Order: sequence, then structure tokens, then C-alpha cells
Amino acid sequence: MPGTNRDPAGVDRSRPLYEVVNNDKKRVAYFYDSDIGNYAYVTGHPMKPHRIRLAHSLVMNYNVYKFLEIYRAKPAVTSEMTQFHTDEYIEFLQKVTPDNMDSYMREQGKYNVGDDCPVFDGLFEFCGISAGGSMEGAARLNREKCDIAINWAGGLHHAKKSEASGFCYVNDIVLAILELLRFKKRVLYIDIDVHHGDGVEEAFYTTDRVMTVSFHKYGEYFPGTGELRDIGIGTGKNYAVNFPLRDGIDDTAYSTIFEPVISAVMTYYQPEAVVLQCGGDSLSGDRLGCFNLSMRGHANCVKFVRSFNLPTLVLGGGGYTMRNVARTWAYETGRLVGVEMDSVLPYNEYYDYYGPDYELDVRSSNMENANSYEYLEKIKIAVIENLKKTAPVPSVQLQDVPRASMGVTDEQDDEMDDLDEDENKDVRMTQRQWEKKVSRQDEYEDSDDEDMAEANGVYKANGRTRKSILDYQNPNAVDDDMEVDSGVATPAAKPSEAAVENDDTMLEDSEAAPPAAEAEAEPTAEPSNQAEPEPAKIDGDGDVDMEEADEKPAETTIKTEEADSVAIPESAQKKSPAPEASAPAGDVEVVQAKDDAAPSPAVKDGTQAEETAAATEKEPEADSKGQSDVAAAQPV
Ligand SMILES: [Zn+2]
Repeated sequence: MPGTNRDPAGVDRSRPLYEVVNNDKKRVAYFYDSDIGNYAYVTGHPMKPHRIRLAHSLVMNYNVYKFLEIYRAKPAVTSEMTQFHTDEYIEFLQKVTPDNMDSYMREQGKYNVGDDCPVFDGLFEFCGISAGGSMEGAARLNREKCDIAINWAGGLHHAKKSEASGFCYVNDIVLAILELLRFKKRVLYIDIDVHHGDGVEEAFYTTDRVMTVSFHKYGEYFPGTGELRDIGIGTGKNYAVNFPLRDGIDDTAYSTIFEPVISAVMTYYQPEAVVLQCGGDSLSGDRLGCFNLSMRGHANCVKFVRSFNLPTLVLGGGGYTMRNVARTWAYETGRLVGVEMDSVLPYNEYYDYYGPDYELDVRSSNMENANSYEYLEKIKIAVIENLKKTAPVPSVQLQDVPRASMGVTDEQDDEMDDLDEDENKDVRMTQRQWEKKVSRQDEYEDSDDEDMAEANGVYKANGRTRKSILDYQNPNAVDDDMEVDSGVATPAAKPSEAAVENDDTMLEDSEAAPPAAEAEAEPTAEPSNQAEPEPAKIDGDGDVDMEEADEKPAETTIKTEEADSVAIPESAQKKSPAPEASAPAGDVEVVQAKDDAAPSPAVKDGTQAEETAAATEKEPEADSKGQSDVAAAQPV
């Protein structure tokens, strides 16, 4: 039929799915485990791993996969997770299940597992997949196997050394950064989630080998940390950067702070690698977030970071309006490989999620931007002044640790107070005033390390009031996603089995699935459980083919590279740590890529064994004076 090229939804497909806008041919490794979408927190919980499957489906149906090296990482194991987390905490995560959780009430309290961070089926495996992708992405970057690594299942920035927090249990970001530090002198962490990146900041608060930069809502919000004056301590002083924001920041305002701050970071800190957490809860209309970024405003941060041409690990994070997170992460995947995707969504098995517009876009709303130009300028100047104090080469000298007003002069401090008052006329006591009051009270107490750490934003795992992320929801959120939720609280099948049926058949599904109009009848059903015309083709190794649908301009067969399914005994993984950052010491395979039919030039043969992060040295837990969380993560 000349001139017509309609997809199953009846949309004219004569326009190309994407346009190449950046021809620098970066090698982009993309980590995706098709099991991920089968995990579900508990019914009604806003964190839905299914969103990653939605994003992946868009990446595939836009044919953007042609530019990616797709990997399925070996899930992180206990000995890898305990490079940051405590043995007891990880053991608990491994053994607790919905069936036995009642016998672990004490541990649930201790490790903050329960409300925000519920026990669910497959919890530990879920953490393993999330962390495995990030660690392996870091390992590939280390060995210059790629320029950019993407793991949308990562970015779980709230998890602490021995505590779950804000829907995060295992901190894949800290683990990935520890892996990067084996080869890179300085690692930059950037966090554009609406929430403060507290877990990562805390882990590296006393080192200059990692600079953490977080842009987040601050004031009456979760997790309550991330004030401008929290800048790190000791050797880490000035290597933690916080940009506190109010509600409603829009694209223009965000770029006017993000770009100059990141430029200054690059100039003064000169990182050798970047980790970018792309939490999607900073998008307009998010169920929990209160910012007003459009998809393009959010992606602008990704584009901007990419432009520095540094080895970059790109991670997911928050994001609670699934269809918007999926669109944004898919679009950002496209930008990372250098293509601009068409605004009309291609038909895909989750097409119903994207009505009524079926477009690749998340628009800003008309909500008020509570961040005045003056406020943003003041903070920006203060942040950049602090950055100027960082030397490009980490210093090894000890630095004094003043009690108050770190990084800002008294004058700036007063101005901040004035601004704070101006911006919060209707608030009885602002967060800033409250924290000053608390901090003044502290001054009457003996100053010991613990107080010091707390005054500077390092909080003890125990003995503080925990905020709940769910206490801060967006009253103006756009409508919920159709509660298609991947939603059963308990997966019907073991994820590994279910995945074979559910996810990897996606392209066959799109071939056989009814047009959208007909599919409307089932909007509340689990999409991946819809018509399953035929099982996925599975080869002898258990790999699942992901074939192009016939309607699509026939490309060819693509296979995900599967991790070697042979379990490596735990004991085999406890090798002696790498003595030096430069030593390629790991000898445990993370991925044994079996890329046995790689027709697309973009899908490279990766049969070479990967080394793992298992060899990263674990810091002894000697320093226990209230800073143990910090000290333990400090790289060697
Ligand atoms: Zn968040």
C-alpha cells in the first residue's frame, strides 16, 4: 500500500520514529532485566517497578535499541551489597518475606522496613537487579567498554548503610560509585530527583573523592536534609553541594541554576566520571513530587551533563506517575544515544497508558513557581562560591570543622534568612528557622563527634525521627495512572518464569495485540498478561528472543545479552580486595554475555568476561562515633 504505513492503532507511521541529532557515536550500554517489572511493592504503593518495563517498551518500539548495547546484569549478591551495607542488614533483607515478617518485628523497626519500605515478595532479588545493573554499568565504564551506561532500575538514593528509607533498600548508587572509585580519582554525583539524595551524600560526606550535588525540594518535605549549608565535613568539606528549592520550579528556572552550577562543578572539581540520578518525581504532576518540569526540561539536564563527554552512569530513581516517568526515561535514552524521538508514540503493548494524547511528552502545568528569581540567584551564587574552594586535586590534609555557617558568610546567612522570611510569609516557622533553632540548642551541649556530624547533616540511623515519604504527596498530581499497576502485590509466578511470558514477548505482542480501540476494554488488566498469542522463543540457554513485529520496518532480531545463569557460590566471590584503585583485580564474572546473534552493529559481541565490584575493598567499621555511616563508605 504505497503512501500508507499505519500502525495497529491506526496512526500514520510515514514519519520516521526518530531523527539523529547528535552524531558523536557514543557507546551506550543499557542494562535491563525483564524480571524487574514483575516485582510489586504492596497494593497501592506508589513505587511501581512496572514503570521501567513501560520505558523499555518505548525504547524498543521507537527502535532506539538499535543504538544501544543491551545487557542483563548479573544481580548483585550479598558480598557485593555489603561493600556499603552492614552484613546484618543485608541478611535481614535476604531472609524476610511477607510470610515470615511477623517474626521479625524488632528488625523491621531497626531497619525501617515496614511502612514506606514494605516487605514484598522478591524484595531481595529486586534489590539485586537494581544494584547489579548499576555496579556493572560502573564496571563497564571503568574499563572503557562504553561511554555511557544506563540503568533505569537504579538510582535508589535514600537507602542507608543499615536502614531502608523512602522506598529504597539497597543503595545501588553508592555501590556503583565505590566501583568507579577503583579506577577514577574523582567521581561526580548529580541528583535531579525531587527529593534530597541523602543516602549518597551521607555515604561520601567525609571524602573529596566524590562530590555529591543534589537539587531538591527543601522545607516540610522528605527526607528533611539537604540544606544549602550542608557541605560536607573534614576532607569532604565543600564536596557536598545542596541546592534547596521550593515548589513549582519550571524548566527555565531549573536550567538557569542547573547549568551554571554543573559548569562550575566541572571547572573546579574536574571529575573523571559522572553518576546522574534522573528521578522522575521532579516532573510536573508527579504523584509525590511538587516541581513543574516538563519532559524536555528534565531531559535538558541529561543533555547538558552528556555534553561534558565524561564517562557517565545514568540511573533512574523516584517517579510516581508511571506514564510520565516512562516517557521521560525513554526520551532520555534517545537523547543519550543522540536521537530525537518523534512526538507521536509508536504503538506498543502499553499504548493505553498514554491516552488521550498518545504523545511522547510531559507538559508543565500552570502551577505557581515559588522560587523567585532572587532566591535562586542567591543560592546559586553561594553554591558556586563554595565550589571555588574545591581544589581540582583532592587534598589529603585534614581540615578544621567549624560548627556553624559552613560555606556561607554571616552576611549571606542574614540574606538567606531575609529571603526565607519573604518566601514563607504564611508559614508559622520555616524549616530554616526551625533548623537554626535546633542548631542553636545544640550549641549548649558538649560538642562531640556525634553532635558535629548531626549539626552538619549527618544523621544517626537510630534516635532520630524518621519522616515518611508518603506524608508528602502532591495534592495537584495529575490523575493516577490507570491502576494497571503491574499491581498484584504478590507476583503470580516467580519473576524469572513470569518474565518469559510477560515481557520478552513484547514485540510479538505488539504484532498480535488488538488495536488500541479494541484494547480499551481492558485498561485495568495487567497489560503484560493480555493476549499471549504464543510463547517467547527461548533458546537452549534460556535466552529469550526479542523479535521485531512484522509491521515495523523490518529490522532484525535482537537478543538481550543474558547473564550467565550459573550461580557463583558466595564463597567464590570473597576474593581478596584490590590493593590499588588501578588494579583490575576482580575475577568474578558479572556478565557472561552470550550475544550469539548480534545482527545490528550496535549490539556488540560482549563475550568477554566482566569483572565485578566484588573486589572493592570494604572499609573496616572502626570509626563508630556517630560517623560510622560516613566512614564506612569512604573509599580507600
Ligand atoms: Zn524522589
